[in-house]
This record gives sequence, C-alpha cells and structure tokens, in this order.
Amino acid sequence: MIPQSFAYTAPSTIDEALALIASGAKPLAGGMSLIPMMKLRLAAPEHLVDLGRIKDLNYIREGQGQLHIGATATHYSVHSSALVLAKCPLLAETAGMIGDPQVRNMGTIGGSVAHADPSADYPAALQALEAQIVIKGPKSERAVSAHDFFLEAFATALEPGELIREVVVLVETQGTGTNYQKMLQPASGFAIVGIAVRLRKAGGKISFARIGVTGLSNVGYRAEGAEGALMNSAGTAADVLRAASLVAQGIDANSDLHASAHYRKHMAVVYAARAINAALGQVK
Ligand SMILES: Cc1cc2nc3c(=O)[nH]c(=O)nc-3n(C[C@H](O)[C@H](O)[C@H](O)COP(=O)(O)OP(=O)(O)OC[C@H]3O[C@@H](n4cnc5c(N)ncnc54)[C@H](O)[C@@H]3O)c2cc1C
Repeated sequence: MIPQSFAYTAPSTIDEALALIASGAKPLAGGMSLIPMMKLRLAAPEHLVDLGRIKDLNYIREGQGQLHIGATATHYSVHSSALVLAKCPLLAETAGMIGDPQVRNMGTIGGSVAHADPSADYPAALQALEAQIVIKGPKSERAVSAHDFFLEAFATALEPGELIREVVVLVETQGTGTNYQKMLQPASGFAIVGIAVRLRKAGGKISFARIGVTGLSNVGYRAEGAEGALMNSAGTAADVLRAASLVAQGIDANSDLHASAHYRKHMAVVYAARAINAALGQVK
C-alpha cells in the first residue's frame, strides 16, 4: 500500500500546470481516486502536478444563463453552494450524495469527471443537465457535451496534455422538477444504479423530460426511450411506470459482486420510477 516514489509540483497557474502535463506529469486533484490507485500500484505516475493551488480552477459563478463550476470545486462546495442550490438544484443534490464527508471535502468535480468511474454519481446529473465539459490544452480550449465526453469506463474525450478547466450547466428554467435517486453500495456510496431526472409540465402534460443514468453500464447515458414515453403524458402512475420500464432497455448492464446485470436493470426501473415521481411532485 505504498506508492512508487514520484516527483510533486504544485503550480499556481493553469499554464504552468499544462506545461508540466505536456512533459508527462499527471494531474492530482482531490486524490480520492488517484492516490488509492497509486497505493495499489494500478497507477505509477513519475510526476504529479497538484491542481489544488490554482485559484483559476476553483470557483462557482453564474454568467449569461449558465453556471460555471471550476474543476477543483469540491463535491462539498458544489453541494453547499447557495448559488448551485438555487440555480441548478439537481447538481447540488447529486454532489451531496457522493461518498462520505471526507470524500466530499477532498474530491473534486473535475477529478470525478476525468476519472469517469462508471459508478460515479455526476455522470447521471451531467447527462440529464446536458452539461458541457470545458477542456484546456496547451494551445486551445474546447467544450465537449457530457454525451460526447464519457466514452467508456474510465475513458473520456480528454487528449494527452489536456485538463478539465470547468463544467458548465444551464441555469435551470423555473418550474422544472428535478431529482436524483441512487441505490448505493453501502461500503463506498458508489451507485449500483443512479437516476437523475429533470422535467417540466405545460397545460397538465409533461413538456420536457431528461433522464440520466449511471452505475448500470460502462458509461452514463440519457434514457431517451423513457424520456419519450413521458412526453405529452399527464404523468399518471401508469405513465411513470411505463416510462421507468424503458430506462434500461437495450442496455448491456454490468454484473459484479454487488449486483447481477438482471438485478441492476430491475433496480434501475424501480429507482427511475422514484426519481420521476419525486421530480413530478415538484411541478404539480
Ligand atoms: C471511499 C470513497 C468513496 C467514494 N464514493 C463515491 C460515490 O459515492 N460517488 C462518486 O461519484 N464518487 C465516489 N468516490 C470517488 C470520489 O468522488 C473522487 O473524488 C473522484 O472520483 C475523483 O476526484 P478527485 O478530485 O479526488 O480526483 P483525483 O483522485 O485526484 O484524480 C482522479 C483522476 O482524474 C485526473 N484529474 C483530476 N483532475 C483533473 C483535471 N482537472 N483535468 C484532467 N484530469 C484530472 C487525475 O489525473 C486522475 O487520473 C469515492 C471515493 C472514495 C475514496
């Protein structure tokens, strides 16, 4: 449980960090995933570049109808931010359900997103929120949708030499009901399944629905079949059950010591119904 020895640098600017990353250094954020991997010798970087002292990566601010959350904002700061709670309650709720207080105080949104654990919580919310991940490289910056960012388990659209600068979500439209429900693995808190829902009603019918799913398969996704089933329905108990029954349709579910694929799919339906009902409860 002792990592291989490594060099450590803690720069104060993004450009310094990028220069170090270009020379082969690995970013270190909260260390909640990277340090255990190093202790288990699943990762053995020779040089760590600590992002924790870069002020330009640690912020939560609003601008032009969007919330900008810097990569090193901790799960605790996202959860406890009055701005996030008021303008994007789904993200605040999700951050508050990650791990335990120690993990929430150390772990960061950028680290979680870059790590792309298939059981992490943020992917469900970021899919449902149609978030953008802003990536900075040595020469340019680009924004990638959550849909295009998460490629596979532990694989993302990040290219060598790049780092995540921020996550951007739209300020939530008034009248939107949101909810995140997860069946958690009790020892770690990771999602066996996690379902994030956003919906709106107009004229008594559901006029907008987004459902993000995590934990079920190798990558978080939007359950578009379930979203479609909700659209233009009144959101009755039967409508909710019909939509929830589609949430895992066609998905190649993971099977591990915590849950078989069959059980995971079943629980995805159960938790989707709970999340849809809870979101509907906010728009009635
Ligand atoms: C006991 C325990 C319980 C947990 N429970 C949960 C849970 O219930 N739900 C959940 O979602 N997660 C959970 N986690 C994971 C936790 O959320 C981590 O915070 C997260 O996965 C990694 O974030 P970090 O800031 O610690 O990143 P680090 O561990 O420092 O880094 C992780 C990876 O991301 C890279 N990286 C970091 N920042 C950047 C950046 N800005 N740009 C590019 N690459 C970057 C690193 O190089 C590394 O490869 C748990 C972790 C532990 C230890």
